[in-house]
Amino acid sequence: MGGYLGNKSKMIAHHLGNMKSECNIYEIKMKDREYFTPDTLDNAKSKDYESCKFCID
Ligand SMILES: [Zn+2]
Repeated sequence: MGGYLGNKSKMIAHHLGNMKSECNIYEIKMKDREYFTPDTLDNAKSKDYESCKFCID
């Protein structure tokens, strides 16, 4: 489970419920992490995030 996590330094949104090793989520600095309310991909995209090509189809 889990929603979406944005990497502010790269402006890429990851799906936490489907994360892959290629996402390197644990290397995202705390200050670069953004969570979304509501926790949806559409909301992330509306904030100019792109979907991660590894964990989001
Ligand atoms: Zn990802």
